[in-house]
Amino acid sequence: MCLHHKITRRRALATVIAAVGTALVQARAAHAAGPYEGPLVDAHSHLKAASGPSPDELIGLYDGAGVRGAVLFGEPWPVASDARDRYPRRIVPFLAEGYANALHPDSSYVNPAGLDQLLAANVVRGLGEVILRHSPYRLGAVGGYASAPANNVPADHPSLVAGYRQAAVWGAPVNVHQEWFYADELERALQAAPETTFVWAHAGHGPASVVGPLLRRNPNLLADLSARTPWIGPGTVLLRPNGALEPAWASTLTDLADRFVIGLDLFAPAHFRADYVNQMVAYYRGLLGQLAPDVAVMIGHGNAERIAPFAEA
Ligand SMILES: [Zn+2]
Repeated sequence: MCLHHKITRRRALATVIAAVGTALVQARAAHAAGPYEGPLVDAHSHLKAASGPSPDELIGLYDGAGVRGAVLFGEPWPVASDARDRYPRRIVPFLAEGYANALHPDSSYVNPAGLDQLLAANVVRGLGEVILRHSPYRLGAVGGYASAPANNVPADHPSLVAGYRQAAVWGAPVNVHQEWFYADELERALQAAPETTFVWAHAGHGPASVVGPLLRRNPNLLADLSARTPWIGPGTVLLRPNGALEPAWASTLTDLADRFVIGLDLFAPAHFRADYVNQMVAYYRGLLGQLAPDVAVMIGHGNAERIAPFAEA
């Protein structure tokens, strides 16, 4: 290596150290500004007939935590539509098939004609969470040790593409769970249905270095930040143990502020408790508080309400 390269490398390293230092100072300063206090929409939660809670209890939890409303995935899916009928200005129902049922012959995802009827009649306002490539998981104590095996449906499976396209006819977003190491399949799906608005659940549990470029290349994709916390999605947490937002995520969220939503991913019976919901909301308020106020407003509720609006009255 010649001297010139050595100097260049040293300078580059100094620049990197300076940039990291600045980001840390900014993160600390923003953190000191305190949590985001504005409106919040939970753009990713599940409601199950078998294990509750009731829509009234769910709304009670949201009221206690200062959450305006939610995009809801029912199990079975009419549960979410019923919740919306009771709380039309606070719930947007999506059509979710069971965990391993995306390609079942009776799945609405693979029956575009039936899907068309449900969307036309406003029974549902979107699809998902569509479980595609899903890693096996087992939650800890706060999640009641809920668990599931892996699921392996490629996002670009030919039987699903017609359904994605049908959703676009009605302006209905499609929330998909696809782990980031299968992002190539997701990208092919995005490009096969370019008119469809997709929301990448949990941002695929991927790093900002994968999520940012995929969003930039595909204007029909947003990402939700659900299950990126110490309690659900551990290992892919967006905040450091001291509460500071990872600098790579701070810049990605800022640069692509109109492309992210938050979500609590309530789904296990143990999640539907005030202390758990309040803790999750505090985590996301702390995260958003480290972003510029206009960015926090978009990610906290504006983007969700733009792509999946609550009914007006
Ligand atoms: Zn998921």
